Amino acid sequence: MGMFAGKVGLVMGIANDRSIAWAMTEALVAEGAELSFTHLPSPSSERRVRQLVDPLQPKVLLPCDVQKDEDIDRLFAAVGHAHGGLDFLIHSIAFAPPQELRKPYLECSREGWHLAMDISAYSLVAVSRAAAPLMSEGGAIVTISYFGGEKVMPGYNLMGVCKATLEHTVRYLAWDLGRSKGIRVNAISAGPMRTLSSAGISSFDEMRDHAVRKSCLPRNVDPKELGTTGLYLLSDFAGAVTGEILHVDCGYSIVGL
Ligand code: NAP
Repeated sequence: MGMFAGKVGLVMGIANDRSIAWAMTEALVAEGAELSFTHLPSPSSERRVRQLVDPLQPKVLLPCDVQKDEDIDRLFAAVGHAHGGLDFLIHSIAFAPPQELRKPYLECSREGWHLAMDISAYSLVAVSRAAAPLMSEGGAIVTISYFGGEKVMPGYNLMGVCKATLEHTVRYLAWDLGRSKGIRVNAISAGPMRTLSSAGISSFDEMRDHAVRKSCLPRNVDPKELGTTGLYLLSDFAGAVTGEILHVDCGYSIVGL
């Protein structure tokens, strides 16, 4: 019996089998978790996610655009109805219009800034608020960040500012939800991975190659390592860990060179 047997989770942010959320899903399924999933409300997103998760026979697989409160309300009502509660939530979602990421941060538009912040940072507030009533016995929430939220990464631009907001959102949510409901909220700050999202970052290859050259462990992070870190943060082994930004980056972030 796996360490997540009897635990119910919701995974938001699978695009395909390279998604960080999929690596976390594989780790959780191997440990016996029962999972529900979302996809963006488009036929292509639904097809991509269904292909992966149908074999897991999820009780809930629903469209959810995190910019839409009605999608979030419908999703969490369905999860409550199907499972009767929730033990953990994975938020692995970000978006900025590609043209905004190609510009220097100084040039980003008001519209692009609001859109990127809404999807990449505010959405964690919205889904955590909706999940909390289902976590009646405490619970755990994990989101995914990047070191570009702490330091300037040329080319990461607007998304770096979104990640800074996301990381401080984790801390404030950890306070609110810890005090009121015993729910823990943490982020994994992941090393660079080639995914659909990262393809929108023009300097991605340079960031990844630089990280391999500079890190304590001179290699890329394996997606499985993000999966197992997710297991840790969502499990009772991390029962006293909350408001934390855990770097899973082969030690890149501690090197000053
Ligand atoms: P990914 O596979 O493209 O996942 C991003 C997900 O966000 C996709 O499933 C996407 O849906 C979803 N999404 C975008 N807009 C949405 C919206 N309005 N409502 C709901 N879902 C929405 O890429 P990933 O690299 O795994 O990214 C997951 C998280 O990890 C992101 O927060 C990213 O910033 C972070 N991260 C990535 C890296 C990296 O190097 N890849 C490093 C550090 C942190 P569709 O695909 O259907 O559009």
